[in-house]
Amino acid sequence: MVKAKKKAICVAAIILCAAIVIGLVSYDFIKSSNTVESTFLAMGTVITTSISGKDADAASEAVEEALLGLENACLSRRVEDSDVWRINQNSGNDVSVSRETAAWVGQALDISADSDGAFDITVGKLTQLWNIGSGEETVPKKAEVKKLLETVDYKKVAISNTSVKIDSEQAIDLGAVGKGIACDALRDILAQFDVKEAVVSVGGSVLIYNQKASVGIVDPNNSQSHLATVEIDNQCISTSGDYERFFEANGKTYHHILDPETGYPVVTDLRSVTVICDSGLDCDALSTACFVMGYRASLDLLQKYDAEAVFVFDNNSVSVTDGIKDDFKLTSSNYTVE
Ligand code: AMP
Ligand code: MG
Repeated sequence: MVKAKKKAICVAAIILCAAIVIGLVSYDFIKSSNTVESTFLAMGTVITTSISGKDADAASEAVEEALLGLENACLSRRVEDSDVWRINQNSGNDVSVSRETAAWVGQALDISADSDGAFDITVGKLTQLWNIGSGEETVPKKAEVKKLLETVDYKKVAISNTSVKIDSEQAIDLGAVGKGIACDALRDILAQFDVKEAVVSVGGSVLIYNQKASVGIVDPNNSQSHLATVEIDNQCISTSGDYERFFEANGKTYHHILDPETGYPVVTDLRSVTVICDSGLDCDALSTACFVMGYRASLDLLQKYDAEAVFVFDNNSVSVTDGIKDDFKLTSSNYTVE
């Protein structure tokens, strides 16, 4: 009788232990497959995140905090005391900035040199003049454009350790790289957490972290839909297009990507350029650079950065670089692939 009781207690204990182990294992499994999605505004654009893994909640909060910090402390032209604001306010002088900001400016200057100035962060005075996207745009006088065009020259930017100096007449605008910089910074943040995989979209730039994902390429004729998809494997993707920010005046459309040679919106047969590579900053700068340079001149530059691209032309044809031909799928019958 006593023996039977002991046996029953033993069995009950084994069942309890097994239940605890199963509970812990399934909790672990649920946590590791936990996906947190969020949408919020930062850096003047809509951010969407989808983060999976045990630390998804904490990582999601850290991502939001990091983006706001990046804008306010480093990249914004408008937020008082940000690094870029101080560089512009103190033009002509050495301005001490964060190590990261100095490195980003340096990386941007390299792409300015490699694109022969097609991409140039010293377009700041001109972008202020045009103010495209503000809702209060007017076409500036030719003489004004001509005068400010003289301030555009990336070669006049000097970096030493963690200080940046621009010419006294200049202003910098990191608008063409900010969203890509955000992708790079977020990759570092995600790596500090137990995150299995993530997709973070920062306006026209997307970070695909530790996974494969299909990313849609916006149809310039209907920015609510996609004309194609590209399969991205653990890389970044950035698009520059004339449909993203523009205004109309006197029957003409003025978009936001300026030709540093003329001071006016680039005249081109392109509607958009999408670039895919490892670095978010490179993708973002290259998409702007390629939009200015045009299809043929862009190919060597892309190769130098081990980057792939999708070019969408104004005659609804699409060109895709060789390295992503198998990953690209046209989804709109309004376009043809060359
Ligand atoms: P994105 O959408 O990345 O091509 O960046 C375009 C933004 O970068 C514009 O709204 C301007 O703020 C700025 N920008 C315009 N033209 C240029 C240029 N040629 N080089 C660098 N930045 C530019
Ligand atoms: Mg860009």
